[in-house]
Amino acid sequence: MGNDLIQIGNAPPQGGFGVEVLAAADGAAAPALASAGKTFYIETFGCQMNVHDSEKVAGVLMTRGYRPVDSHQEADIVLYNTCSIREKAAQKVFSRLGTFRKAGPAAGKIIGVLGCVAQQEGERFFERAPQVSLVCGSASYAQLPSLLAQLESGNRRVKGLALDTEDCFETEFTRRENRFRAYLTIIEGCDQRCAFCVVPMTRGPERSRSGARIIAECRRLVDAGYTEIQILGQIVNAWRDPTPARWSFAELLARVAEVPGVRRVRFTTSHPRYFTPEIVAAVDSHPALCDQIHLPVQSGSTEVLARMLRGYSREEYLERIHYIRKAQRAISLSTDIIVGFCGESEKDFEQTVSLLTEVEYDQVFSFKFSPRPNTAALELVDTVSEEEKGRRLAVLQEAQRQIQLRRNQALVGKTFEVLVEGYQPRLGQAVGRTTSNRVLNFPGEPGEVGCYRQVKVTSAGPNSLVGEKIDDCRLTIVD
Ligand code: SAM
Repeated sequence: MGNDLIQIGNAPPQGGFGVEVLAAADGAAAPALASAGKTFYIETFGCQMNVHDSEKVAGVLMTRGYRPVDSHQEADIVLYNTCSIREKAAQKVFSRLGTFRKAGPAAGKIIGVLGCVAQQEGERFFERAPQVSLVCGSASYAQLPSLLAQLESGNRRVKGLALDTEDCFETEFTRRENRFRAYLTIIEGCDQRCAFCVVPMTRGPERSRSGARIIAECRRLVDAGYTEIQILGQIVNAWRDPTPARWSFAELLARVAEVPGVRRVRFTTSHPRYFTPEIVAAVDSHPALCDQIHLPVQSGSTEVLARMLRGYSREEYLERIHYIRKAQRAISLSTDIIVGFCGESEKDFEQTVSLLTEVEYDQVFSFKFSPRPNTAALELVDTVSEEEKGRRLAVLQEAQRQIQLRRNQALVGKTFEVLVEGYQPRLGQAVGRTTSNRVLNFPGEPGEVGCYRQVKVTSAGPNSLVGEKIDDCRLTIVD
């Protein structure tokens, strides 16, 4: 989904979280190491997949005896898990590394760069930022234990930059940041070649996890107290069971939803090219599958979509929307949009705005086109000025604001089940989320975090709802 910069530290959110879940336990725990007693800090930029990768990296480090701390000042090993989806995001890591410019290795810290910028810049990091000791792209995370072992034995510079891998990143332990919503990656990498997108060059080829492993992880998550599972993949619906069972993506969704104790399942990001009526049928027939589908369109103009190499036209995209709208359940729709892509005319842009009106999305993540290294778009001319991109973004966002306001106001008086995800002490408000992914705030108690509540909507803004609860706590997360 279109998160720009998400930062997670090591402090568990809402206090006291940070659950460790035994994951694909194929190997024995690592022996006690020289790292015992040492500390680490990870800062994460970018999408949910990066957030979850950091949770797994934290698990790998903890298995090796490292302890998480809340700031880079306290840490022996400092890791930045980077995002290069847009230029602004990619630059973030260099400003962080500036902090260590003077300190260098003499400060006794190990500094590592992970993720998409690590893959993109590769060994150049060692020249550009000599304080960096570890550079590792996400396609090489399976090598992390051996890279860490090399660092522990005194190696100054280690790298994992191979892209030609068939490995998925499986860990013995995953240090999850949230206590009731668990991320679960089912497919890594991306084989699409969208003209704007750097992901295939930074995350490597598509690798699907086996269905049986995914279900086994879901069962462990339920045993650990999770009730909501968020299935992740760059193109999540390109997942194909690599085992002879050959489940389709829709079958997998149904099986995850049927795991006893799983109460909510979300999945992101779906690509329109692989979006089938079977997925909608699975959502329709499995109440645990949330009333929410994120289906990035990127542009409402068929000409622009062709230049973006998206593999569908406006009409083909609208066909998918049509079968989502025909579902028996009212499914909430969200999308990603890029404005100002190479050659986007005013008329093309107007078609994108008209698509918003036609589909009536519940949420839109919108971005100005940002040219990225090694992408096909570099062969095209970036015709739209920064100023014009900014204007189009503002027009689009205002149009969408009006749509969301109208759609949310239509919900006043209705009652929804929410999972309480947080509490704002200053306002005395609990922060809940509906199955349609709307934020619904209501007067509540800190102890309600992790509960499912029935809440009646009393007022609505474009980005959230306000309500009052109409029942008592029905499910409490057990410590
Ligand atoms: N893999 C998903 C897909 O292809 O739909 C989404 C990946 S990306 C993390 C999230 C969003 O960032 C994309 O859907 C797109 O809207 C936006 N994005 C990707 N590359 C971009 C670029 N070069 N400039 C601006 N936005 C970009």
